[in-house]
Amino acid sequence: MGLSLYKKILLAFVLVVLASTALTAFFANRSAATGLNVFVSRGAELRAQRLAPSLGNYYTRVGSWDGIGAVLEQNLALLDSNRDRGNRQGGPLRRINAQRVALFLDQRVILADEQRKVIFDSDDAIMGETLNRRLLNLAVPVVVDGQRVGFVLFAQQENDALAQQFFKGVNRGILLAALGAGALSLIVAAVLSRQLVAPVRRLTLAARGIAEGDLSQRVQESGGDEVGQLAVTFNQMAEKLETSEADRRQLLADIAHELRNPLSTIQGNLEGMLDGVLPLEPEQIATVHDQTLLLSRLIEDLRLLSLAQAGQLPLEKDYVDVTGLVEDVVDDFRPLAESRQVSLETDLANSLPRISVDRGRMSQVLANLVSNALRYVQDSGRIRVGAVSLNGFVEMSVSDNGAGISDEDLPHLFERFYRVDAARSRSAGGSGLGLAIAKELVEAHGGTIRVESTLGEGSRFSFSIPS
Ligand code: ADP
Repeated sequence: MGLSLYKKILLAFVLVVLASTALTAFFANRSAATGLNVFVSRGAELRAQRLAPSLGNYYTRVGSWDGIGAVLEQNLALLDSNRDRGNRQGGPLRRINAQRVALFLDQRVILADEQRKVIFDSDDAIMGETLNRRLLNLAVPVVVDGQRVGFVLFAQQENDALAQQFFKGVNRGILLAALGAGALSLIVAAVLSRQLVAPVRRLTLAARGIAEGDLSQRVQESGGDEVGQLAVTFNQMAEKLETSEADRRQLLADIAHELRNPLSTIQGNLEGMLDGVLPLEPEQIATVHDQTLLLSRLIEDLRLLSLAQAGQLPLEKDYVDVTGLVEDVVDDFRPLAESRQVSLETDLANSLPRISVDRGRMSQVLANLVSNALRYVQDSGRIRVGAVSLNGFVEMSVSDNGAGISDEDLPHLFERFYRVDAARSRSAGGSGLGLAIAKELVEAHGGTIRVESTLGEGSRFSFSIPS
């Protein structure tokens, strides 16, 4: 198994904190160094500018730089002791001292003559040498009567312990900030991953339950974020699985039940004949034959229904003339209707548009409705088959003045094996699948089917197909 989500989030946070700390440290150090440099060199230049006139005075008084080393030495020593005592008192270089005390980095004083030869260095490092370009850049000329007599400069001490201390301070600040940010990000990561990971874990557990066959598993639907939506979708999926599993079981039970009826009739009849209880005569055998016909019709209907429900029923669509289609179906039923003195009429609108349908399947739907009407209408009843064009649809309908259907039964009429009167339906040769198949076939053509009925007055089945 790979890293858990929790560890990944944690790792990401740690990486971000590390990277941002490193970047902050780098840039903070760089800008602090630049700032410090500017501060120090500008300060040094200012101090040199203030010291230059005092040195000029000295030069004027003495006429040369002779003895300046001792004077500077003495004043620097005085400065150090004054600073130690926190008491800054005068001397020729009092103004410089105040400057020096204000500066937090020790500075080195260098004096050069007009030839740029160093005649004083408080560090003694470059005595007698010529000022190099870097030092010359920091130097301020000492001018007496409009003539340059030397250069003075404050250079940073080679030993920059204070600077190191300064950077240490900066780095410690950054480190503390990084530790603080690290601790904070650990807390945030923990809270965030708890919020993220907990619902994912619940989903995993529920999915495992479903994989093991417990289709009642559902997860808590919390929040509208992606994980929340996943939970909602998961629950919908589980719901669908559960209902289709229940449907499948119910279908198996229904089929077993439906097959048992004709089979037990066949079995009973055959046993009666074998035992000599029933006469072995053509009528008796015809009963058995009828049951086998019923069985094979049932099996054929089931096959058709399952194909249609799976959307795998091939439709051979063609542009079909509605009037011709209706009249052909009605003509097929006319002999049966006449034998029962049922009046079978058509009521077709003029100039019906052609519809793109599988003619065989459409006839099957219409025939199913007409045969139902004939089955449930009294002798000398009336059946009317109509067709009209309505808002881009062609509506075909079969109305009868039969027994009608109660409001309780109406919503279930198109369910498979649903029968209002099972015994009557079976004895009339119905499989209980006719309307379910009709609904599937109509819907496969992009249409809808519906029924209106009043008990004792009759029923009207109609379906619309887009034209
Ligand atoms: P069956 O094979 O039983 O006819 P159907 O699916 O075709 O199955 O019809 C389902 C049930 O609807 C029938 O059992 C019957 O009770 C009822 N039904 C269908 N058509 C009519 C009708 N025209 N008048 C009254 N009841 C009807």
